[in-house]
Amino acid sequence: MQIYKELYIGGEWVQPAGTQTMQVVSASTEEVIGECPDGTPADIDRAVAAARAAFDDGPWPTMTPVERAAVLSRLSQALQGKAQDIADTISAENGSPKQWSLMGQVFSATMVLDTYARLAGEYQWEDTRAGMMGNSVLVRKAPVGVVAGIIPWNVPLFIAALKLGPAMVTGCPIILKPSPETPLDSFFLAEAAIEAGVPAGVINIVPAGRETGEHLVRHPGIDKVSFTGSTAVGQHIGEVCGGQLKRCTLELGGKSAAIVLDDAVLDDHLLGELVQSGLMNNGQVCGAQTRILVSRNRYDEVVSALGDAMGALKVGDALDDSTQIGPLAASRQRDRVEGYLEAGRSAGARVVVGGGRPKDLPKGWFVEPTLFADVDNSMKIAREEIFGPVLSVIPYEGEDQAIKIANDSDYGLCGSVWTADPSHGAQVAARVRTGVVAVNGSMILDFNSPFGGFKKSGIGRELGPEGITPYTELQSIILPA
Ligand code: NAD
Repeated sequence: MQIYKELYIGGEWVQPAGTQTMQVVSASTEEVIGECPDGTPADIDRAVAAARAAFDDGPWPTMTPVERAAVLSRLSQALQGKAQDIADTISAENGSPKQWSLMGQVFSATMVLDTYARLAGEYQWEDTRAGMMGNSVLVRKAPVGVVAGIIPWNVPLFIAALKLGPAMVTGCPIILKPSPETPLDSFFLAEAAIEAGVPAGVINIVPAGRETGEHLVRHPGIDKVSFTGSTAVGQHIGEVCGGQLKRCTLELGGKSAAIVLDDAVLDDHLLGELVQSGLMNNGQVCGAQTRILVSRNRYDEVVSALGDAMGALKVGDALDDSTQIGPLAASRQRDRVEGYLEAGRSAGARVVVGGGRPKDLPKGWFVEPTLFADVDNSMKIAREEIFGPVLSVIPYEGEDQAIKIANDSDYGLCGSVWTADPSHGAQVAARVRTGVVAVNGSMILDFNSPFGGFKKSGIGRELGPEGITPYTELQSIILPA
């Protein structure tokens, strides 16, 4: 059992304001694995006050980006020292398979911090240009201020890193609000922050539910909200921020398409990548390529190969080394996914493999990896984000139609193109209306380039130097001639 009784606020462990706690239940065993304080609005007030002091009075925003990057690097190293414990905690919390967790949950997070630490030295923080009257103007990127980072449960440390990295290099203190499903791993982050000597108030962590989260978003001491989560909540947070003219970045849901072109050679490696692109982290990834578009010429062949590959996946306890597909993060999440299985069947889609709960796993929130064939893009399973191990194969006639189907979605986060001709694949990719498209690979993002969504997948970008800019305000200092 991991029991935490205090919150990390203002650089130290403090007693929570309330007495409520949240219990965390293992997704694989349904047993209680830990407990921590359930943050209240009073805890948020205290965290915002600590962050404001660090910003308004502290040396943090006036240090150089490279000085702050050194602190960020130390934070990354401290997290690396705890990597296996963090990975196992996240696997227990949300069902992320152990095989994937260490890299996908933890090292991906520390690599993001390392990337931002490097970018701090490369980013153009200011430039001097000619003014109108023979004078010059210093155009600088000032820190945006105190940031609220709202974190979902699917890749909690990684998403926290996407917010911590740019906030820290720009000089913005942050209050992170982890999700009630995955609060435990955030206590390792707090311990790492103490070990790394992060100055008081620069990072504050208050795990809490939505009401306390909303209090954080609305708090007058917050200058920017960086939210990752569902489109429905993102729309609401966008409205609140709009009403208060607060800066916000919204990383939301997706319904990405993998376009398999007629010349694709689906050998075992590429097939494995295609399955991975849809089912990584049990399909609980915003960029999951859950619509697989295949031409009529190759439809039966690809459906059968995908069905075989998905049927062979080992489903089991997330902490078992051999598990490829773990349980869903919560019982309500399994109910939701089962609702989509029913919706697919009743709309006339054909179940190729899976379709229910694994018979040999009576405990844990498991759903079999499920492949639907004969799916039409208008069906609910093709339009809505399922967030589980469920893929749909949609037939197309000709490349233009494939691109049309890929773009016929409310979302626009990721995508992929599978082909024997990568340069043609890149041309097809450029016609897909999403923030990221991979050619012949399961990568849904690259740390050196911007990540984020078109349409209802969000507003703003994270990663790459472009990921720093939303944490800045442009300031022109007009100098005398
Ligand atoms: P969610 O929207 O229910 O919750 C996300 C976070 O917001 C949680 O911490 C939650 O407590 C908090 N929250 C909820 N209502 C709030 C409110 N009114 N004010 C402030 N905070 C509030 O999402 P989830 O179920 O935790 O996560 C899954 C979703 O996240 C999926 O839709 C997925 O696509 C999306 N996601 C997107 C990305 C991306 O980068 N685009 C990455 C990962 C996950």
